[in-house]
Amino acid sequence: MNLIIFGPPGSGKGTYASRLAPMLGLVKISTGDLLRENVKNETNLGKAAKEFMDRGALVPDSITNQILVERLERPDARKGVVFDGYPRTIEQAVFLDSHVKIDTVIKLNVSKEIIVARLSARRFCIKCGEIYNTLFLKPKAEGICDKCGGELIQRDDDNPEVIAERFDVYEKQSTPVLEYYKNKKTIPFVETTTPSVYTPPEEMIEKVLEGLKKLNLK
Ligand code: AMP
Repeated sequence: MNLIIFGPPGSGKGTYASRLAPMLGLVKISTGDLLRENVKNETNLGKAAKEFMDRGALVPDSITNQILVERLERPDARKGVVFDGYPRTIEQAVFLDSHVKIDTVIKLNVSKEIIVARLSARRFCIKCGEIYNTLFLKPKAEGICDKCGGELIQRDDDNPEVIAERFDVYEKQSTPVLEYYKNKKTIPFVETTTPSVYTPPEEMIEKVLEGLKKLNLK
């Protein structure tokens, strides 16, 4: 089974994908995480991607698709994948179709107010990438990852100007990609709407699982 999770930056999609994947026996693949890893390791692809990421723009498809395909070639991806942050363009969606069959699209609807509150409180682990939030997903010890003891920091692109740019990019880019999947008419959607900034991720994950169950996918 392969799922795609869509949601604006700060909608919690990374967290939901991380939690849903093991529950469903799938692996999570986040192109954002893969790109950040490449930037950190100063690979050629990372060096080429950095300037786009720093200003909240999409990294060119040629770079992103190459990073994705390298990840899909790893054996664990055969279990099935929750795609997080990919595809973001029609070209990527077409590319993905040529590699795997998508079973369901999960769409998280979250208002702009909730997004702003969430993103300013977001932290991630410098070592393992685990995501936290100082409002509702706090680590046990402040500033330290529960999973690996790594330091929790803010992403470079979690500042107001870049957040606004990334939100606009998301709106502009996701609409045609979602249309692409809707037009296929063969891929079901599971949609949820987050009611408040304090809604615990577990509640929304439960709603997604209910949606998948209705489709006999869980
Ligand atoms: P994310 O962690 O998904 O919010 O991604 C962080 C940044 O990585 C984005 O703002 C883009 O610059 C880049 N990025 C991640 N995924 C993609 C993608 N599928 N296509 C193009 N750029 C991407």
